[in-house]
Amino acid sequence: MINPPEHALNMEELHWQLGLLQNLDVGLIVLDADHRVHLWNSFMANHSGIRDSVAQGKRLSELFSGFPARWFQRKLESVFLLRSQAFITWEERPYLFHFKPYHPITGLADFMYQNVTLIPLTSPSGAVTHVGIMVYDMTAAAMGQKALHQANEELGRLSRTDRLSGLANRGHWESCLEQEFERFCRTQQPSSLVMLDVDHFKKVNDTYGHQAGDEVIRVLANTLKSHARSTDLPGRYGGEEFGVLLVNTRSSDALVFAERVREAVELMVVEHAGTRIEFTISLGVAEANNDYRSHEDWMRQADAALYHSKESGRNRTTLAEDLE
Ligand code: GH3
Ligand code: MG
Ligand code: MG
Repeated sequence: MINPPEHALNMEELHWQLGLLQNLDVGLIVLDADHRVHLWNSFMANHSGIRDSVAQGKRLSELFSGFPARWFQRKLESVFLLRSQAFITWEERPYLFHFKPYHPITGLADFMYQNVTLIPLTSPSGAVTHVGIMVYDMTAAAMGQKALHQANEELGRLSRTDRLSGLANRGHWESCLEQEFERFCRTQQPSSLVMLDVDHFKKVNDTYGHQAGDEVIRVLANTLKSHARSTDLPGRYGGEEFGVLLVNTRSSDALVFAERVREAVELMVVEHAGTRIEFTISLGVAEANNDYRSHEDWMRQADAALYHSKESGRNRTTLAEDLE
């Protein structure tokens, strides 16, 4: 058997290597010292729609409108100068080249997320004469991470929300109240708390059924939401007991809010399964002050005012400061 000459083998290997590079599922570019394209593989050609023959000898900023030329030039220069690799991750910059995503699984993305690696290419003398750029499609990973982030957000939201009323649940609402009390202590900006409870709610359940009672809770929650400002925080404290935190509000204004809600509820008729249900609420209002040692003291005062409203006939509002 006659062996082929060595240079023929080398040529054949080079041919394979070029074929492999061309068909790699990674973008591959080689730039020369003048930052002009020297190599442009088929990944780059397919995604950009720019043929190899067009890309050759051009700068990237000539090939892509909106290319971050100055920023990228600094990156390139550091690779040439420091002879070390540089990385651009999709978290830092979602993409370097604006390509459409093409995987069906990543159909939700507007563009291809990319990780980019810049590699110094040295000549036999050791000088960096070219830089290799590898472009990895990270769209699937980015979409996965975004979906996870959204699921976590939703989970967080659900854990803070009461299912029946859609308001903040007791745990979340109370921790907000605690934070607001701390803010009051620091800033001395006024803040008021309204606690309210449905009058004779047992009778609603007994007369119309538990489902009707649930509907009353939902309607009352919506009434609180519609009367509150965006900075106020209504929450479901217990069964048919609610709290509304009114930030930057004096008790006189909180009393106006409380009376508005009370009157709206008094005039309201809840329709459920062919029956018409009327109900009333009792309320207590307390403004934060420096005598309270904790948010619990604050809540106790609002609760005492609410209790006073119940004792003195229901369907009314009491101010904690009027109690003594
Ligand atoms: P008061 O005027 O003194 O507040 O009288 P009340 O009947 O409202 O008394 P109380 O606060 O003790 O009654 C609360 C009732 O609310 C008891 C409980 O069965 C009912 N309840 C608590 N949570 C729910 C709920 O989620 N849905 C329904 N339908 N009823 C509930
Ligand atoms: Mg009640
Ligand atoms: Mg109650």
